[in-house]
Amino acid sequence: MRYQLENCPFCGSIHIDSAGYLLSYRIECRECGACGPKRKTHALAKESWNHQSRELRFEKELESRQLLEHLNSFGSLPPPSAGVHETASHS
Ligand SMILES: [Zn+2]
Repeated sequence: MRYQLENCPFCGSIHIDSAGYLLSYRIECRECGACGPKRKTHALAKESWNHQSRELRFEKELESRQLLEHLNSFGSLPPPSAGVHETASHS
């Protein structure tokens, strides 16, 4: 049975490998070397990787949405009122 692994949340690569350690497993990206948390079983390691991947993607999405809103707020600023200084410096 094969688990479906999410793409790498860092580089988007689909070349994801699982690595076994002495007492644990973890999922690693072959492209950028990103890795998920170590877990006791293969299945748990994959689960954690997928969870991390989704979380990171969600965060990135949120970030870019906030950035977009930030940029939009600049566009909606009222135009600088011209001529204020001219009338104020009337002495
Ligand atoms: Zn990667």
